Amino acid sequence: MHSPTLIIVAAILSALVTVVLYAVWYFNQHIPGLRLWMLSFSCASVACINLLVRDHFPQALSVVLAQGSIAMGAYLCFLGSRAYMGRAPVRHAIAACALAMLLLLSVYFTVVQPHLGARFVLSGLVSGVCYLLTARTMAHGGFHKVPARYLFAGTIGFHGIFLLVRPVLFRLAAPNGVLDSESSMVAMLSQFVVLEATLALVLTAFGALMLINEFIASELRHLAEVDPLTNVFNRRAFLTLLDKAISNAQRMQTALPVLVMDLDHFKKVNDTWGHRAGDDVLRHFVVLANCCLRKEDVIGRLGGEEFAIFLPNAGGGGAIAVAERLRALVEAHPVVTGQRSIALTVSVGVTLCTGDESADAALQRADEAMYLAKERGRNRVEMSPRMSMAA
Ligand code: GH3
Ligand code: MG
Ligand code: MG
Repeated sequence: MHSPTLIIVAAILSALVTVVLYAVWYFNQHIPGLRLWMLSFSCASVACINLLVRDHFPQALSVVLAQGSIAMGAYLCFLGSRAYMGRAPVRHAIAACALAMLLLLSVYFTVVQPHLGARFVLSGLVSGVCYLLTARTMAHGGFHKVPARYLFAGTIGFHGIFLLVRPVLFRLAAPNGVLDSESSMVAMLSQFVVLEATLALVLTAFGALMLINEFIASELRHLAEVDPLTNVFNRRAFLTLLDKAISNAQRMQTALPVLVMDLDHFKKVNDTWGHRAGDDVLRHFVVLANCCLRKEDVIGRLGGEEFAIFLPNAGGGGAIAVAERLRALVEAHPVVTGQRSIALTVSVGVTLCTGDESADAALQRADEAMYLAKERGRNRVEMSPRMSMAA
């Protein structure tokens, strides 16, 4: 019933996509889900090749191979999407039972009570459900931020729905329930089924490549924006975000509190306990700082043991309260690494950023307040002169 030319094209395309994904996976084995998607496409290749050579095998064997490869392809695609999205792996017991049932029923409807329509419904049902679950798994994160996920979800979701409604279309083309290969409607529909599967294959492959691109781009962005030691924004990313926050505050006609913090006598920690302990102290400080912050507050590492925070939804009083809370928290929680306990204090400078100031100018002012705190004995919070006047 199927056009051999279309199936040959689908077989070549799925084999090509498998090879391309294998090559990409070989060089990027850390990308989650990629290996599973590559295996999923290889199952599609097996299904196409099986369609081409099925006349040379016993029918039951070719039916088992067809049903098995189509269902495994869909299930692996679903597993790949879960891995890509960082979801916990699923237990395979349900899938194994469903596959066993599918194969047993397929053999039954081939050997005991031959029924092409029933086999068709079974295959569409299992893989259709898997593809719909894949679409639901992928469509997260916001279209504007991660469009590739939605393209992938849209393609795979459409394909899943088509697989589920396919038997209904054949029922309409052959109302008596007999799939007559001489019927022009049935023949046309068969060709359309292969064409749709081929298009879904190509679009899904594009979607997978776009997802790989999205993953690598977000990895690079993370490397460019985040300090690897403390996992907070680096100076450049923090300044960019601060610039945006200042513009927002200006539009809302509010002042933006900015804090600069510097650990006291940090060099002594390094000199006494070693650089590794110094690194532990920096990470410990960030954990404590995050305890004092709300979701919308942003912290960055300006360099060395100097950090900065801006608080978009706080006023001057709130900012001083946060600074004081952080100072007290740091003093009360020495770093415990191995057998030792390293006491720690921090000096904080607070300023309010108003008008069309640049991020650099705001930080400069908070920095001056922080140096005032150092001069006045460390382990304290100081406000910039402008803020003191406002207070
Ligand atoms: P003050 O109270 O005046 O701020 O004194 P301080 O010792 O904290 O400041 P100083 O600028 O003299 O020393 C900062 C030290 O921070 C020197 C440098 O070796 C250390 N440092 C900078 N970056 C890192 C880092 O990533 N890891 C570790 N362990 N140390 C760092
Ligand atoms: Mg210091
Ligand atoms: Mg310093």
